Amino acid sequence: MYDKGTIDGYTVTAMDGTKFFGSNKKKCTDCLTIEKDGKTHSFHSGVVMSTIGEGPTLVLDFDMYKPGEDSTDKDEGELSVAKRLLSEVVSRQRNVIDIVVYDALACNSVWINHCISNQVDTVVRVKKNNNNSVKEVKKKTNKMEPVEVWVDENGYKEIKVYESLFYMDNVERNLRYVKYAMKDNNNADGRRRQLSARTQIMIVTTCLKLSLKSIYKMIRASTTPQEIQ
Ligand SMILES: [Zn+2]
Repeated sequence: MYDKGTIDGYTVTAMDGTKFFGSNKKKCTDCLTIEKDGKTHSFHSGVVMSTIGEGPTLVLDFDMYKPGEDSTDKDEGELSVAKRLLSEVVSRQRNVIDIVVYDALACNSVWINHCISNQVDTVVRVKKNNNNSVKEVKKKTNKMEPVEVWVDENGYKEIKVYESLFYMDNVERNLRYVKYAMKDNNNADGRRRQLSARTQIMIVTTCLKLSLKSIYKMIRASTTPQEIQ
């Protein structure tokens, strides 16, 4: 289906946690529930895996949260659904997916090791309060010089790119940490954009050979515009 891949020759997909159904009246035995304003709200949630980048967005598969099997913690529960989903997709269509992009809840050894064992590369956003190995590489990279500086890129005045190799706790293979620091343009009329003039995106990836531009494209393609500005 994607002979030439979806981004720079790679077939890239993104994971997205989604709520599928919600009601204060109807429910079934597989429903999740939350108490809100004294009412019990019943719902289902799950994770969708779809292609991102060029070509039509194709939903490859989705999986639902299973009460009793998946953790009741929101992030942990979503992660266990996502792991099952990735295994299902890969076992059905080996070598179709090159890279899976996921948000910060997947920035941990559990997800990264799961991708490695499924022979799929992953790009994940970095959580604010992460494990020690990520904190250390963050600090170390902050003191370094940028490896690339892009001028007038993507509506930004300047993007400085920093990177380091590091080992995450409990992951055997070395990983790559990349930081994109964007400096915003002022609008033509001199007014600043509503949001901050400086934005940072930090990611961790298993993919050591991917170009910094390709990673940036993947992150942009997996994120809604509001999130990235
Ligand atoms: Zn239900």
